[in-house]
Amino acid sequence: MSKGVENTCAFCGKSGKDVGMLITGLSAAICDECATQAYHIVQQGRAVGSSFLPKGEEVPKPKELKEFLDQYVIGQETAKRYLSVAVYNHYKRLMQKTTADDVEIEKSNIIMVGATGTGKTLLARTVARKLHVPFCIVDATVLTEAGYVGEDIESILTRLLQAADYNVEAAQRGIVFIDEIDKIARKSDNPSITRDVSGEGVQQGLLKLLEGSIVNVPPQGGRKHPEQRMIPVDTRNILFICGGAFDGIEKKIAQRLNTRVVGYAASRDTSVVDRENLMQYITPTDLKAFGMIPEIIGRLPILTYLDPLDRKALRQILTEPKNSIIKQYIKLFDMDGIKLTFSEEVYEYVVDKAIEFKLGARGLRSIVEAIMMDAMYRLPSENRKKMAVGLSYAKEQFEKMDLSRLQRA
Ligand code: ADP
Repeated sequence: MSKGVENTCAFCGKSGKDVGMLITGLSAAICDECATQAYHIVQQGRAVGSSFLPKGEEVPKPKELKEFLDQYVIGQETAKRYLSVAVYNHYKRLMQKTTADDVEIEKSNIIMVGATGTGKTLLARTVARKLHVPFCIVDATVLTEAGYVGEDIESILTRLLQAADYNVEAAQRGIVFIDEIDKIARKSDNPSITRDVSGEGVQQGLLKLLEGSIVNVPPQGGRKHPEQRMIPVDTRNILFICGGAFDGIEKKIAQRLNTRVVGYAASRDTSVVDRENLMQYITPTDLKAFGMIPEIIGRLPILTYLDPLDRKALRQILTEPKNSIIKQYIKLFDMDGIKLTFSEEVYEYVVDKAIEFKLGARGLRSIVEAIMMDAMYRLPSENRKKMAVGLSYAKEQFEKMDLSRLQRA
């Protein structure tokens, strides 16, 4: 008996000949893999400790979070405020000690609604930079109800576990960003019509996660199979942030607002098309009209919106954020010892083209890429120390490009 103990890892049960190294103690042995894993667990445990924040750091206040977001995301004041407060409250919730007053802070999952390319994912990513909790982004379009082709809903938590290096404790305090939540809306307004596999079923499945329950998660993701070991994860303290474009929801908002909207819009900035400003009036009723089930809406109590990006915002996005597209190109050239400059007219031209081709912020990069492609190809082999991009050069380069490439940036 004792012979067996000495020759197998007491943790994984592998025999000495199947592992790299077996460290033997008085009455048991551990293999190199398990020892490494144990080391990581101990390290994480230390980092987590009684508080989840690194030593000396405090919970970032909503204002501080918002100021951090301001460095990377242009505009979107309302969404930034909502997000900052929700994340701050999430932290407070985590620190909450059970007290005699029995007041329990409930978690407030968030839903962000706004046209594609207005900064929803960017906001979520940027918030994640500032946080010391595990964070992951998942796409709702890949999710399907159990038993259908696609990923099980639980795979969301697999990603979170992976982001937490399989530290379940840490994952249970994490933040999940679910993108394209609108794609799982019920396709028909009438719930009694045949079951909607891709939409409502997924919403129902998601509900379990959002409302807080113990979910068995396959550690490697994919489809569940009977012999796979599952990790139970409690979702009560996980903050869910959902984002979606909800294409066409303005119509529902307009229908609800009816004539009132004319009055509202008329008193606003007339340079903005009324229709594009409707999102700010969004309420949970509109989400329901769009096909989200009431139970899901109830579990996403913080509803906020993103503004469409106007000309001014696009111009700012080009150069102002900490890692703006232009700053990235300047850095790329700088690494080859070339000082890259642009004239203001070039920026205006890039914005004009993004608007002309209805590409939004995502198109800015493709346009700058088109303008810079030739220079990026040639300059590293030439001995130039400077490159100044003017309007005529930008036009010439842009017009050389196959425009069809831009249509779906
Ligand atoms: P969404 O998730 O709303 O579809 P993204 O956040 O993915 O949009 O935005 C696409 C890209 O456009 C970002 O990576 C960023 O470069 C740029 N962008 C969009 N909105 C903003 C913004 N408000 N401020 C700065 N950059 C932005």
